[in-house]
Amino acid sequence: MREPVIAGNWKMYKTTGQAVQFAEELKAADLPGGCRVVICPPFTALHAVAGILKGSPVELGAQNMHHLEEGAFTGEVSPLMIRDAGCRYVILGHSERRQYFGETYRGVNLKVVSALEHRLVPIVCVGETLQERESGRTEEVVSRQLAGSLAGLEAGQAGRLIIAYEPVWAIGTGRTASAADAQQVNRFIRDLLAESFGRDTAQTVPILYGGSVKPDNAAELMARPDIDGALVGGASLDVGGFTAIIRAAAGY
Ligand code: PEP
Repeated sequence: MREPVIAGNWKMYKTTGQAVQFAEELKAADLPGGCRVVICPPFTALHAVAGILKGSPVELGAQNMHHLEEGAFTGEVSPLMIRDAGCRYVILGHSERRQYFGETYRGVNLKVVSALEHRLVPIVCVGETLQERESGRTEEVVSRQLAGSLAGLEAGQAGRLIIAYEPVWAIGTGRTASAADAQQVNRFIRDLLAESFGRDTAQTVPILYGGSVKPDNAAELMARPDIDGALVGGASLDVGGFTAIIRAAAGY
């Protein structure tokens, strides 16, 4: 039985003061057990939020990282730095990184390997554009993205991943994939993981859905057998909404 995971991707929102206030309110909220909760603030707020979350079951993640530990890479942040700031998770290959910052799955693969070496849990994002979906290429695209980002991994490493299926057309648009469509792609991803790493490993990997998840659609999505939680953008910025999604995932 896989424990659901709800991860909040704050993107480029919240100053450190706002992030600290959110973390204090979330820590004080009466969160249900049986659900892993992760928040991913901007880099500037990580250290301060880690301090607030001490002693709380809520965990911390970063939204990106460079694959190297250090070097002359202006503007980048390394796996050592995000570990040092208190992170256990890192989102890799988010579609906004691919769309606006030219990230490729070759680059995502370097980051996934590096994250695992640094004992971080990568949340690896895959998902098709609207054009790809409408031309019936969803499975082909998702399978190429998954193969690219997980190239060279062994089953033991793959078993430490989280995958997020995030159709690009559903991110930040208010359009959600139907629960049936999301289940179909998540199931397809699990079958791909089974082909590459074996059925036992595939059964342990949480596969999330992301794309306009809100308190009112979360329960229906998460009732599906291969949707093991959500990567939440916009709705993770508000403590009330985020907590409602956590409750839906935990079955309350
Ligand atoms: C995301 O940023 O990963 C995301 C799913 O955003 P939203 O929930 O706002 O669609």
